[in-house]
Amino acid sequence: MARTALITGVTGQDGAYLSQFLLEKGYRVCGLVRRSSHEGVNDHRLRWLGIERDIEFIDGNLTDLSSLMRAVRATKPDEVYNLGAQSFVKSSWQQPILTGNVTAIGVANVLEAARLENPEARFYQASSSEMYGLVQHPVQSEKTPFYPRSPYAVAKLYGHWLTINYRESYKFFACSGILFNHESPLRGLEFVTRKVTDGAARIALGKATHLEMGNVDAKRDWGHARDYVRAMWLMLQMDEPDDYVIATGRTTTVRQMIEIAFRHVGLDPEEHIRINPEFLRPAEVDILLGDPSKAKAVLGWEAETGLEDMIVEMVDADLARHRK
Ligand code: NDP
Ligand code: GDP
Repeated sequence: MARTALITGVTGQDGAYLSQFLLEKGYRVCGLVRRSSHEGVNDHRLRWLGIERDIEFIDGNLTDLSSLMRAVRATKPDEVYNLGAQSFVKSSWQQPILTGNVTAIGVANVLEAARLENPEARFYQASSSEMYGLVQHPVQSEKTPFYPRSPYAVAKLYGHWLTINYRESYKFFACSGILFNHESPLRGLEFVTRKVTDGAARIALGKATHLEMGNVDAKRDWGHARDYVRAMWLMLQMDEPDDYVIATGRTTTVRQMIEIAFRHVGLDPEEHIRINPEFLRPAEVDILLGDPSKAKAVLGWEAETGLEDMIVEMVDADLARHRK
């Protein structure tokens, strides 16, 4: 019989790629969708992948425990992937309470719904390298202490530790994936890679003249979302639940990433990038660099797509979108 997955955040970047991955494996995929007054807008990523008709949508919200209990009861999932969150770091200073309610307490709600309604289900929590924040070690592994630097990261830390606590308290099969930044043509436009690839495409097509950026000296360990959703699934196929760092092991400045995108369309970034302090953050995460050796040894997982190929794929997708 087909296995069932319940995904919160199914309309997000990772939810879309994870759905595609699980559908190809023969899963029945159920996705929690929050109600919107607009029709047909929040499934645009699933439509881009051509899979929107293959998913069973369930109305619910991470802040509403009863909706999550109903979703688990109705779908009886073998695997629950909690990907839903207020996921944009910068917004977490503007909306710290909402970020806490969705990104932190939302995890408690999903864990409770799964444990009470379907204790045999396996659970995946979307933790984040942002939890390392002011890094305590030059290369971050599962053993590196955390030092969150934003309301978002503080909320993610709560979800991470609660996932571990449910594993230890109830023998619940709960895994936390500490994923470093991962991007794709489906990344939200507010995140730096997509902002840059979209900007490069618009300037190349004569639809804009320049792009305003924040701290271009920040460094990130960027991978491709398609690779990273495979790691989520692998974690839930192991005999024992555990936590894993998922990263490429290479770090690059925002400036270098901009260079790759702009050069691809024959533009000199010096002529088009302007720094606007509005895009700086009250507290910055200067550098992230992950050590994925545990994931490689235990899960047999490795990042397959390099940064250059990913940025080129994203610029090409944005060029195609703007030409339409
Ligand atoms: P996105 O921002 O693309 O997607 C977030 C999803 O959460 C959307 O489907 C959104 O729904 C949903 N959501 C937001 N609020 C609620 C709510 N109150 N109730 C129900 N659903 C809600 O994120 P990504 O796909 O990039 O990331 C997936 C997860 O992984 C997130 O938890 C993120 O914090 C985490 N993460 C991501 C990393 C990355 O680099 N991408 C790195 C590390 C962790 P809607 O479409 O309606 O807005
Ligand atoms: P984050 O790592 O989850 O915060 O992912 P982002 O893609 O939002 O930001 C990555 C890094 O790029 C951070 O250090 C930002 O400060 C930096 N950055 C520089 N300019 C910008 C910008 O214009 N937008 C965003 N989102 N980030 C920027």
